[in-house]
Amino acid sequence: MNKKELIYEGKAKWLFETDEPNILWVTYKNQATAGNGVKKEEILGKGKLNNQITSLIFDHLEQKGIKSHFIKSLSDTEQLIQKADMFALEVVVRNVAAGSFSKRLGVKEGTELDFPVLEFYLKEDELNDPIINEDHIKVLQLAAEEEIEQIQQQALKINQALIELFKRINIRLVDFKLEFGKTADNKIVLADEISPDTCRLWDLDNNDRLDKDVFRKDLGDIIPLYQEVLDRLMQLDKETMHNV
Ligand code: UDP
Repeated sequence: MNKKELIYEGKAKWLFETDEPNILWVTYKNQATAGNGVKKEEILGKGKLNNQITSLIFDHLEQKGIKSHFIKSLSDTEQLIQKADMFALEVVVRNVAAGSFSKRLGVKEGTELDFPVLEFYLKEDELNDPIINEDHIKVLQLAAEEEIEQIQQQALKINQALIELFKRINIRLVDFKLEFGKTADNKIVLADEISPDTCRLWDLDNNDRLDKDVFRKDLGDIIPLYQEVLDRLMQLDKETMHNV
């Protein structure tokens, strides 16, 4: 498979065409951003860690019967994915109050939620990714009713699989963001990445942050934390991951 033209540059990844029309080549960047790109930094080694973590998690989800766009990892920072027509949506699932949920609704950070709370955001940097509801999605024709339902169901299933996975490596899955797309055969699949950039991950013993909040709030170096998440996932992968 050969890498061809660059077709998209995001904050954290480059996307290239390949000689296969429905397959794309992704290269993870070292760039870290927060606050819709207002805070921006090159962090050596971040691309490699997020590519490796995402690859392991997508593999694990596949074992659990959850399809994603992920095909395979190519190198430390590169992977092949299925081309997908992306919904202009960010889907956030929350198990514990934190971040914008705590701020907006006045719920203390760390409060366990009675059930997983699902939120939609419009993926539009110029508008600062506003929170939206199902009527907004329908009226803006971002997705049809049945598609919204499928996305919700998949997001909740992914949440269950991820809660269990992270629990086994002593991590509390506080919340995370997902993106979905439609492949050439018209199937809705999980896309983008699942990494400490897109999840809040707290150590189960001491609530230590193992995610991008440390960068957002200037609390220190994220590389050892992301490495810790990868090491725990790799250890589990070695032991049992594919047998459960
Ligand atoms: N998130 C993300 N990309 C975004 C916004 C949020 O990956 O553009 C993730 C974030 O890492 C967290 C979850 O979605 O795990 C919920 O984020 P929140 O709405 O609390 O926003 P934040 O506090 O990050 O601004």
